[in-house]
Amino acid sequence: MKISKAKFVKAVIGNDYGLKDNLPHIAFFGRSNAGKSSVINSLVGQKDLVKVSKIPGKTREANFFLINNSFYLVDFPGYGYAKRSMSERNKIIKRIFWYVESSEARPRAVFLIIDANVGLTALDQEMIKILEENRHQIVIVANKIDKLAKGDVEKQLSSIQKEARDIPVLRYSAKTNEGKEELTRKIASFV
Ligand code: GDP
Repeated sequence: MKISKAKFVKAVIGNDYGLKDNLPHIAFFGRSNAGKSSVINSLVGQKDLVKVSKIPGKTREANFFLINNSFYLVDFPGYGYAKRSMSERNKIIKRIFWYVESSEARPRAVFLIIDANVGLTALDQEMIKILEENRHQIVIVANKIDKLAKGDVEKQLSSIQKEARDIPVLRYSAKTNEGKEELTRKIASFV
């Protein structure tokens, strides 16, 4: 698969996705600032498809992007941004959990974007637990690999893989596009 077309379809704030076309969903989750917006832009080859936020933690909507007219990439708001109010954070977590636990539009897979330099945070682990409880397919995307010193890459990735146990971990850099082919291939295997 080559991603040749990507367009923004809609932003959803509540629980009603209102997209009844039965196209598969691939969901993107991640802690704020892990680089989720940048990963999506690099993946689809459009610099500004998703606004890379100057102010972290700003988006609250789940954004639906139609890819190749054949599936939706659903970009969820980043979780865990400390400066957001508690009630706002809870709202986002609740919406994510609703989608994960009871949405009719069950995603074919959830791609969890993390910062390779930071590794899996407690919140990421919590998210993984809920996703596993609900039997979702998970793929971890270890982004910002370009920021690691060359000699540390393998060590850091194997430590993330160890923590992730049997969940596949893909290396990525939204800055250099490293890992783009592998990520595209992985997405294609679910749609
Ligand atoms: P989001 O909050 O997860 O959507 O994160 P953004 O895509 O807005 O990125 C957060 C910050 O990390 C921005 O300053 C990006 O330029 C930077 N960033 C994202 N991906 C990469 C990457 O692969 N490498 C480097 N060096 N910086 C990145």
